[in-house]
Amino acid sequence: MALLQTNGLTAFYRDFQALFGVDLWLDAGETVAIVGANGAGKSTLMRSVSGVLRNKPEQIVFDGRPIGALAAPEVMALGIAMVPEGRKLFPSLTVEENLLIGRYGRSTNGPWSLETIYQLFPVLKERRNNPGTALSGGQQQMVSIGRALMSNPHVLLCDELSLGLAPVIIKDIYAAFPAIRESGASIVIVEQDIGQAMKVADRLYCMMEGRVTLSGRPMELKREAIHAAYFGAD
Ligand code: ATP
Repeated sequence: MALLQTNGLTAFYRDFQALFGVDLWLDAGETVAIVGANGAGKSTLMRSVSGVLRNKPEQIVFDGRPIGALAAPEVMALGIAMVPEGRKLFPSLTVEENLLIGRYGRSTNGPWSLETIYQLFPVLKERRNNPGTALSGGQQQMVSIGRALMSNPHVLLCDELSLGLAPVIIKDIYAAFPAIRESGASIVIVEQDIGQAMKVADRLYCMMEGRVTLSGRPMELKREAIHAAYFGAD
């Protein structure tokens, strides 16, 4: 049984339908990437799984339990943590306070603490008393990842980590992922950058217009097929 699974997941914004029966799964210990162009439905999928959007209960199953209708705090308490698009730090709080926020709602012992987050991202220790917003975009992204890890999640959902960051910074951020995997977390990464997604993921899902158009292991997927699944081109 998969750790996390969506079954014919549909999602709506009022009467606008954004997801049309999305089926995907994440096994324990896996890293899965979801790629697709703007508007494909990737963030809607993340918002659904994390409980920001409500769905039908059985459309999302975590560890054998239907969670589609749970609210975000309940989903977080189960051990599903989200690194949201746009980082969303608390501007009036320091780096360390932002990290500690990740502890609320789920105080589980596990590999992640301030100490191990600072080992993962040493620059955050140097900056720990600075306001989160005084950091560079890449450093803010590190805080956002660290904050999610502070809850010691079973599943880490990452929405567009690379957005607005320079390639060298993106490389730094992704350099942390082997350690995050080794900590035992299963990971879902939403990425517009297919090359980056293929490097980090065990399996890849392509989405277009609210549907999964292709899935498989990066090595098994042909470049042309990914291109067609991503852009809708022949
Ligand atoms: P992006 O990379 O731009 O974030 P995405 O693949 O994450 O794209 P979504 O943000 O999930 O796509 O959007 C899927 C569809 O839902 C799009 O057509 C978008 O316009 C629509 N949509 C997203 N958020 C809302 C909202 N709050 N209200 C209404 N429609 C929305």
